[in-house]
Amino acid sequence: MTDKKKIQAPRGVHDILPDEQKYWFWVENNFREAAQAAGFERIIIPTFEATELFKRSVGEFTDIVSKEMYSFKDKSANSLTLRPEGTAGVARAYIEHGMQTMPQPVQLYYWGPMFRYDRPQAGRYREFYQCGLELLGDYDPIVDAMLIQTVAKFHKKLGMQDIVIKINSLGTERAKGKMMTALGKLLERNKKDLCADCKLRLKKNPLRVLDCKTGKCREILDKISPSLIDSLDDESKKRFTKVLEYLDEMRVEYELDPKLVRGLDYYTHTVFEVVARSNEELSLGGGGRYDTLVKQLGGPDTPAFGYAGGVERVIDILKQQALAVPDLIQSDVFIVQLGDRAKPKAIEVVEKLELANLRISSALGRGSIQTQLRLAAKLHTPLTIIIGDQEVHDKNVIIRDMEDRSQETVIDRDMVKITLKKLEEKGLRVPTIYESR
Ligand code: AMP
Repeated sequence: MTDKKKIQAPRGVHDILPDEQKYWFWVENNFREAAQAAGFERIIIPTFEATELFKRSVGEFTDIVSKEMYSFKDKSANSLTLRPEGTAGVARAYIEHGMQTMPQPVQLYYWGPMFRYDRPQAGRYREFYQCGLELLGDYDPIVDAMLIQTVAKFHKKLGMQDIVIKINSLGTERAKGKMMTALGKLLERNKKDLCADCKLRLKKNPLRVLDCKTGKCREILDKISPSLIDSLDDESKKRFTKVLEYLDEMRVEYELDPKLVRGLDYYTHTVFEVVARSNEELSLGGGGRYDTLVKQLGGPDTPAFGYAGGVERVIDILKQQALAVPDLIQSDVFIVQLGDRAKPKAIEVVEKLELANLRISSALGRGSIQTQLRLAAKLHTPLTIIIGDQEVHDKNVIIRDMEDRSQETVIDRDMVKITLKKLEEKGLRVPTIYESR
């Protein structure tokens, strides 16, 4: 007997249905435009990698590696992991393709799903999308500021309000080590009040305690963290001051946050996080400098700086703030036909318009004009072409503007020309990413 029980999506993953797509296109387009305008090129990296890659980069004692990875053995017994983040894969690709021989910095952007066995709740999924920027091969403080400015512009383009960029410096590897020791000592004094997880973190990597969200731990951190900035050496302080000066010059607003470390081990120097004032607990994105990562993965000594944003969380804010998101235009023209004699003509009209590179939709199987117009409205089609028996007889068509509902009868010969003109007047020529030759 077959089991008829309904199969549901696994916990923590979600479908992105057609009604949601306008948000997804909108965020992706704005991200791509902001990234490309700042000189980033797209890279597509695999969704799974050797498990070792993440162990060696993200850090064995981070929550991501110790608790949240989707790791499995394939049929050849290779240990693989669904990527929990994008930076490690980009760094691996940089080394694998000898990108250090290209003009530096190499600037890359990506977009795609990440996988973490996280506790599902609002804004926290097991499969979620990240958009990311990576800039490899440049240590100048100006590139930190430039990348953060690109992130700020991305949020601005989306019209997001009350967005704050928090920033901190962990200093050089050595300064970070010193800070870890200083923090370890301060936390040791308050050990009895820390949560059980943090007691463990304190032993393995005290910096991880700074990621803790429990009330008592946060209170302790608020008390002790301002003194952490003192563990920065002069070189680190000087570098950080430069980053802040450049941000001031670029008029990028930021807030200093000495508690900020980010949940991945590879960061040094500048780290930053993007939050919405309405929910500072759930960051929208973040990043930092990772000058040792490429070398750690067997590549040449390569300073680098990156960012990753959470797409679902950005979309949640767009909705919360009721920001204007344009409807998707799936097709340029919808063909409405009435009566059997109109159908062959409708097929001919579709062919002619397709030859003019227009996107056409129709419901040739439907009889009622109301049903067809309703479908055209749902697809946000700007124009419809209506063909009935009369139009077949008179050798013309009716072009209807779906916005102002005006109609014009046009002879067959002029149909394509006038359709194109009307679309152009609406500024709706399909944009292209290809160069013209
Ligand atoms: P991270 O790679 O941990 O620095 O995360 C970068 C961004 O990805 C975060 O600021 C979130 O916006 C997003 N993010 C991280 N984990 C999740 C998750 N489990 N579900 C949804 N978004 C996430």
